[in-house]
Amino acid sequence: MAQTDTADWCRRIRKEYADAYDTMTWLTPEKAVQATRARDALIHDIFKYAGSGPQWRFSETKLTIHGISPGCRFCGQGEWSCLFINGICNARCFYCPSAQNQKGHPMTSTLEFRTPEDYVDYVERFDIQAVSFSGGEPLMTFDRVVQYLKSLRARISRPLYIWMYTNGLLATQDKLKTLADNGLDEIRFDISADRYCLDVLKEAVDVIPHVTVEIPAIPEDVEKPGR
Ligand code: SF4
Repeated sequence: MAQTDTADWCRRIRKEYADAYDTMTWLTPEKAVQATRARDALIHDIFKYAGSGPQWRFSETKLTIHGISPGCRFCGQGEWSCLFINGICNARCFYCPSAQNQKGHPMTSTLEFRTPEDYVDYVERFDIQAVSFSGGEPLMTFDRVVQYLKSLRARISRPLYIWMYTNGLLATQDKLKTLADNGLDEIRFDISADRYCLDVLKEAVDVIPHVTVEIPAIPEDVEKPGR
């Protein structure tokens, strides 16, 4: 990368993370080189041991080994809006990027949407093709999720793919059914938040059209048994 590009990226990142930039631990150029080499070696091994299965997608920015869900496809194509429906969570994942201690209002890209109608206007205005509900933990404000879901389905008749992220701790058969009945296409579980418990996934597969798992790779957890 040219030096001017690097300076420009640094300036933009400083602007975006204005309140946190100076407290972050940044990679040194030497560590960045080491990390890049380690990454290259891992990718080399993936192709070496997995044969012809792995493939690059989305302008070669994502390496996948199996098929991907429609939600992942919209995400990779940059055609979706992620609505952070609240800012509270009942789990404490060490990798969570924020404190999750304020309920707040639904927001995305620094814009707040205090009513479902406002958010539907936004989705229409920018011709957004897919929406996801994230948080925080969406099920901690279940009624809010249902309200926004219902409004999207009531006012948008064109195809709109909708999914929700959850740690699953508060998921019940009744809630899953309500979400499905109101048009949720996909539910995506962070199973590492609940010790890799699969019970709730098994319940969801009978109710929601697409059930997926999204977790970070945690080397220390490789030997942990799922439940
Ligand atoms: S479940 Fe999600 S929001 Fe909650 S602590 Fe874990 S990563 Fe953060």
